Amino acid sequence: MIRVGIGYDIHRMEPGRVLVLGGVTIPFEKGFLAHSDGDVLCHAIADALLGAAGLPDIGVLFPDTDVRYQGADSMGLLSETLAKIREKGYVPAQLDANIIAQRPKLQPYVTAMRENLAACLHLDLDCISVKPRTNEGCGPEGREEAISAHAVVVLTLPPV
Ligand code: MG
Repeated sequence: MIRVGIGYDIHRMEPGRVLVLGGVTIPFEKGFLAHSDGDVLCHAIADALLGAAGLPDIGVLFPDTDVRYQGADSMGLLSETLAKIREKGYVPAQLDANIIAQRPKLQPYVTAMRENLAACLHLDLDCISVKPRTNEGCGPEGREEAISAHAVVVLTLPPV
């Protein structure tokens, strides 16, 4: 039996903020305006995991009104999410994700992101795909006002 989940997140960009994606700090003149570190890739993945497991979404589990999550490291939130998935008996089997950013160029950081996610989710590297793309200059991502991410995950029940 498999279960599939989909996740999406978007955060606005502002000058002078830190840009973190997939736990990788990326040098850029803008970063995320967010309660946590704003790592949209981790947030999209967490929601995909929760959706696949039939659990409430990330906004319910980690509310932005909770001071514990102020400036939170989203890889940590992803680890906490994984623990909730495992409590229900599921393990991740595969992750596929898109990041939509006009700038900066993210391809040089993809391997580091995949390695972080593989370590966090206890998955082999070849079970994790991260695909950066621009938005062809259209919409908030294309105008460099925001960066968004989409994720799909597959969960399985571990063999007994
Ligand atoms: Mg978010």
